[in-house]
Amino acid sequence: MEKISRTKISELLKREDFGTMVNVKGWVRTKRGSKQVSFIAMNDGSTINNVQIVVDIANFDEEKLKLITTGACLSVNGVLTESVGSGQKAEVLAKEIEILGTCDNTYPLQKKGHSMEFLREIAHLRPRTNTFGAVFRIRHNMAIAIHKFFHEKGFFYFHTPIITASDCEGAGQMFQVTTMNLYDLKKDENGSINYSGDFFGKQASLTVSGQLEGELAATALGAIYTFGPTFRAENSNTPRHLAEFWMIEPEVAFNDIYDNMELAEEFIKYCVKWALDNCYDDVKFLNDMFDKELINRLKGVLDGSFVRLAYTEGIKILEDAVAKGHKFEFPVYWGVDLASEHERYLVEEHFKRPVILTDYPKEIKAFYMKQNEDGKTVRAMDVLFPKIGEIIGGSEREADYDKLLTRIKELNIPMKDMWWYLDTRKFGSCPHSGFGLGFERLLLFVTGMSNIRDVIPFPRTPNNAEF
Ligand code: ATP
Ligand code: MN
Repeated sequence: MEKISRTKISELLKREDFGTMVNVKGWVRTKRGSKQVSFIAMNDGSTINNVQIVVDIANFDEEKLKLITTGACLSVNGVLTESVGSGQKAEVLAKEIEILGTCDNTYPLQKKGHSMEFLREIAHLRPRTNTFGAVFRIRHNMAIAIHKFFHEKGFFYFHTPIITASDCEGAGQMFQVTTMNLYDLKKDENGSINYSGDFFGKQASLTVSGQLEGELAATALGAIYTFGPTFRAENSNTPRHLAEFWMIEPEVAFNDIYDNMELAEEFIKYCVKWALDNCYDDVKFLNDMFDKELINRLKGVLDGSFVRLAYTEGIKILEDAVAKGHKFEFPVYWGVDLASEHERYLVEEHFKRPVILTDYPKEIKAFYMKQNEDGKTVRAMDVLFPKIGEIIGGSEREADYDKLLTRIKELNIPMKDMWWYLDTRKFGSCPHSGFGLGFERLLLFVTGMSNIRDVIPFPRTPNNAEF
């Protein structure tokens, strides 16, 4: 076959130099036609749109054409032609076809309309569907938007460790990392495991958050963000939790809680706008296929500002709703850790806008959050979104050494693990704030998908680590 340099379908569909010889490569989505002519819809992943390949059957070997089945991979040389019926401006009139890979009828993606559950069982092939192609292109674009946003604001991308020896968010949610022989574990007289012979000489785990190390960096470089994998062994089989997810954690010296809220709002709006501006074909596809309100919801977040509300006020609104007969699955009272249904009520029913809820009871938040004067609440902020509930969790950090130490002692957090963190408050302490955005929660919002397993290529959840 004549060597012509390949044009990606995303580029090809924009071209107007009809009559030019081009080469396209990709996978067959469908083939239809008559005795004289075949129409092959081909996709190469560069765009949601297929290119139509027109095959004049008389010019090709019949046996070869039989091998062009759904899923087969082709390289086609042909003439770029103005299209009349394909829904696109351009199509390709085939001159030479090479079959790079055949695909027999055991290929599971023959028919359209598979359930999301079935597609999870074939996660190795699901990127070839329109839906997952769209989701993963949007995923890439959101990662770029995030780096661009922070880079343009002068934040430094800081890499925090994935393996850590401190469990600072709360025990029991961490995956242990060990090279010890589990078939021959030595325990001491108290039944405790002696980790001194383990790889790191102490108990180590996969990180649940890069925040503490992020704070070290922010109190030196001024403004940083992390963007990396995060692991939580929480056995919550919900459509919003993964055991392995990606988190973005900006941390900024000298920012108070109000600056923090402004940053969160600006950041998330930037990402949503980026999706509308740069991924419109994919977003439109998902809007039309799954969720007719998607584009409206995305635009809705961009107009107007997020509601800012204290937790105590939020509880009052929820209690009022209960008094008026609204049924929640979980109880509402001051001190409760809000469930997603409560968060969504505030956002979807009451305010009809995203809500930043602040000043939570200290008992339900982490030890490092700045304590308010009332002695009961902390300067926490959760950003609550339609359909999702919590998308961001953050706070102003406690900058006072003594207050922080007291809280660490109250909560029985092992001090010896925290010495390096306390040093930030000992040596030139400063007010600072930050938050964590779950990347997949953002993607749930932007794609309108309803299960978090469908916005990450290979989801890790309880009892599932296939692929
Ligand atoms: P939730 O109450 O929803 O479990 P969280 O309070 O445990 O969240 P944080 O510890 O504040 O969450 O983490 C910051 C952000 O990370 C959350 O706002 C959310 O977007 C995301 N996140 C937390 N846990 C998970 C998870 N298991 N899977 C995916 N994203 C998560
Ligand atoms: Mn959680």
